[in-house]
Amino acid sequence: MNEVAELIEDLEVLLDTNAPPASRTVNIDANLTIDQVQFRLRREFNAIPSVPCVQLVVAGAVVGLVTRRSLARADDTVGGASANPYEFGAGERMTLAGNSTRYQLLAFECSECGLKAHRVFYDERDLPGCAQHGGMRLVR
Ligand SMILES: [Zn+2]
Repeated sequence: MNEVAELIEDLEVLLDTNAPPASRTVNIDANLTIDQVQFRLRREFNAIPSVPCVQLVVAGAVVGLVTRRSLARADDTVGGASANPYEFGAGERMTLAGNSTRYQLLAFECSECGLKAHRVFYDERDLPGCAQHGGMRLVR
């Protein structure tokens, strides 16, 4: 699995699937850690109190929407304060250790406007959506 797919998988814990359309986009480099991304997002939300929600983009790929609520929730579950990196979100994220090199990044696309999103897992209950047009289709 490449580093973009790995980071996107980690970032899914930050997403809010019921988020309203976002007017702001936060672009993240693929070489950041989830802690650094959370820091970036907190700074973004703190800087602009009127923004409830941002679209998270990693290396050009739309990951999804993050709200203040989902970011705060992730802070609780991911346990950013943990001194042991191996305890990082253990049990919450249900990562299948040992299989990770076999994951394939799934690409979704809005058939109306071509907006793209990515998932590491295909989960019927949590498919990406276009903020303007709703459901996206799986493109590979
Ligand atoms: Zn669309």
